[in-house]
Amino acid sequence: MSLPVVAIIGRPNVGKSTLVNRLAEVRDAIVHDEPGVTRDRTYRPAYWRDRDFLVVDTGGLVFDDDTEFLPLIREQAMLALSEASVAIFVVDGQAGLTGADEAIATWLRQQPVPVLLAVNKCESPERGAIQAAEFWSLGFGEPFPISSIHGSGTGELLDQLVEYLPPSEDVEEVEEIKVAIVGRPNVGKSSLLNAFVGEQRAIVSPISGTTRDAIDTVVERQGQRYRLIDTAGIRKKKNVEYGPEFFGINRAFKSIRRADVVLMVIDAIDGVTEQDQKLAGRILEDGRACVIVVNKWDAIEKDSYTIYEYEKHLQGRLHFTEWAETIFVSALTGLRVDKIIDLVNTAAEQHKRRVSTSVINEVLEEAVSWHTPPTTRQGRQGKIYYGTQVTSRPPTITLFVNNPDLFNDSYRRYIERQFRQHLGFKGTPIRLLWRGKK
Ligand code: GDP
Ligand code: GDP
Repeated sequence: MSLPVVAIIGRPNVGKSTLVNRLAEVRDAIVHDEPGVTRDRTYRPAYWRDRDFLVVDTGGLVFDDDTEFLPLIREQAMLALSEASVAIFVVDGQAGLTGADEAIATWLRQQPVPVLLAVNKCESPERGAIQAAEFWSLGFGEPFPISSIHGSGTGELLDQLVEYLPPSEDVEEVEEIKVAIVGRPNVGKSSLLNAFVGEQRAIVSPISGTTRDAIDTVVERQGQRYRLIDTAGIRKKKNVEYGPEFFGINRAFKSIRRADVVLMVIDAIDGVTEQDQKLAGRILEDGRACVIVVNKWDAIEKDSYTIYEYEKHLQGRLHFTEWAETIFVSALTGLRVDKIIDLVNTAAEQHKRRVSTSVINEVLEEAVSWHTPPTTRQGRQGKIYYGTQVTSRPPTITLFVNNPDLFNDSYRRYIERQFRQHLGFKGTPIRLLWRGKK
């Protein structure tokens, strides 16, 4: 379950977006919506009396008086309403009741959503009451005279509104998967982003990130939310002010830091470059899950060995191919693009996975009995007492041993391989901490 949604409905120019700005102002005064992407449905966080909710502007119900109303209702308004807990129907108190308002009212009355009627542009309280009275006939109970510009009357409206929100116990925190798309310029990041958010109705909200211009895009797929980190950085075209060589590596680093899963995009034509290796290094250091996306696969001449050879190339140049899944896609033709999300899901799941101490120790016992820890020339042998997972994201296992120095790199790698072999952890790095007796 996500936050309750309040849909703002009404014909154009009655002041819907002004009202949305008013309701959401406390929360996110600095949010700038990405033009184009989210025009039709923009969800803005708001709260009133300790209740959090999202306000969505339906973009205006445009129709012609000559035509049938219903077929012309914009799909976006329907969608917004279908998920709303309550709707605010906005009318214009200065313009008075119009045919368009009546048509919308007729339609709204058939919707299974409680409706509050806001009579906007009522700056003067005395005249406002008179202006509002005219709208009783719409059949939504007492009209609320408000001024979105001044904010007057909105408190009463909100008091009523929160009554209609589902009880807050029902509102669980939604768990999002935070995804960063990184890679050099021109590898196809924005093309992949578009493929990811392509379906318009999937777009839930642009929410400002840690910096003013870091705008995330939140999409929902099959009940799962994905926060695509710093999509403004991806969309920002070609960093003209820095010249074409500018890589934006610091921006990429920041995105990696905020991500659960990093989509590391590599250009199939160029292969893995030094810059890609820098990004890879940071992904490992930060312990982020990763999916290697080799894009522009359409542009490669292929025979039956190509993928195999390409995988060898990746293995030689990226350290984490042992655990990160690789997918060969084309944002241009759409080849396998829809499969990326499955890999993201797996990686995210494994990244936050917790394994019980008993299972970890079973793996350890098995591993040690196949291959005992090395013995030094002085005859000292490493001994593993037990292991336990201390944290996740990424999964981190502490191994309590007699003396960490007795375990060389090759034995440590062996133990890690055993964990992977028995427990998987596909898509995520894991960390082993070797702790000696103090
Ligand atoms: P929308 O098309 O329904 O989203 O309407 P807008 O929010 O864009 O507002 C349409 C026009 O009405 C703009 O010129 C606003 O400045 C004006 N407006 C909005 N709210 C008020 C209000 O409370 N009082 C007055 N007088 N004008 C308002
Ligand atoms: P970004 O800078 O990483 O965001 O890259 P863009 O998405 O802007 O893509 C850079 C260029 O590569 C554009 O001209 C795209 O049309 C092209 N491109 C993107 N994906 C593919 C692909 O899968 N195949 C081919 N052949 N070209 C692609």
